[in-house]
Amino acid sequence: MMRIYKIFTDRKRRLFFLVPALAIFTWLVVQKILTIVYAQDMPEESGVIISEMDWPETIMKVLSAAYPDRIGPVEFRNDDWAFTIGEKWFYYADGRFLPEELKDAAEDYRAMGFNFNYPQELPAWESTAEQRAARTLSAEEGRRIRQTQTQPARPAARRPLFFFEALWNISSRDQAWEQQSQIDFLGHSLSIHSGISQTMILIDEIITNESKTSPAVRQWIDNLGTVAGWNWRSVASSGNRSMHSYGIAIDLLPKNLGGLATYWLWTARDNPQWWNIPYSGRYHPPDEVIRTFESFGFIWGGKWGNYDTMHFEYRPEIFILRNIPRT
Ligand SMILES: [Zn+2]
Repeated sequence: MMRIYKIFTDRKRRLFFLVPALAIFTWLVVQKILTIVYAQDMPEESGVIISEMDWPETIMKVLSAAYPDRIGPVEFRNDDWAFTIGEKWFYYADGRFLPEELKDAAEDYRAMGFNFNYPQELPAWESTAEQRAARTLSAEEGRRIRQTQTQPARPAARRPLFFFEALWNISSRDQAWEQQSQIDFLGHSLSIHSGISQTMILIDEIITNESKTSPAVRQWIDNLGTVAGWNWRSVASSGNRSMHSYGIAIDLLPKNLGGLATYWLWTARDNPQWWNIPYSGRYHPPDEVIRTFESFGFIWGGKWGNYDTMHFEYRPEIFILRNIPRT
């Protein structure tokens, strides 16, 4: 007991213990401050990790945020996530996005896929080509397997069109036409959904401005041959409907492609290795044009595996989705 007491009374020994103790204390205080400072920065930096379980709520909120003028706030009602489009309630319904009266018929429909991996930059071509080759092979295998099955397990589920039909207030060709505005776009006439016509006019102004300093944009505008927006394309049997049918997609083609590939399906007619065409062999609008469209919520088809380099479509939700990390 005496010896321990002596340690603290002896000045030299007291310093021997106090200096490291003070150093440790200071280090702990600094660490604490750093933790607080970093914690404040964390939410933006790390993002919110969405688990599969929270996904229905998240995707509904993303859609509501992407189309604030058209979709109401998200609510949990009747055991599912829901929002209104106009007066009508729409439910998540296992990814089918069904109106209230069909809420319990999810099995009759296919789930709707939303791309949450739209790339910021055009991916390096080599890796895209390899992945594409692997996917094409497995798709061919899948087709072979399906062909050998004489009796499908159950009839193919239909693709649900209710969500986009309600969103753009379109369910027939005539109704679609009534929703379109005729505008001038880079010197060409364009039929586009009136809900995005003001956005298109703004894009036209920005691209025209860019052409004053960028010879590539100037040349691209001068060579524009086709500017095509609304076009009712609906394959009733498959339920496939192009976004052109709603008037929210636009194709921009030069007068002469000069042998360049633009739409994978056109190329695939006489080139089974359509995916193997390098970017230099494809028609690409200037980067400034692609960036301008993207900044207004338009995705560009040139970034798709099944490329469609003339195609832009208004999908603001895709730009929100790509920033949400999923587990
Ligand atoms: Zn198109």
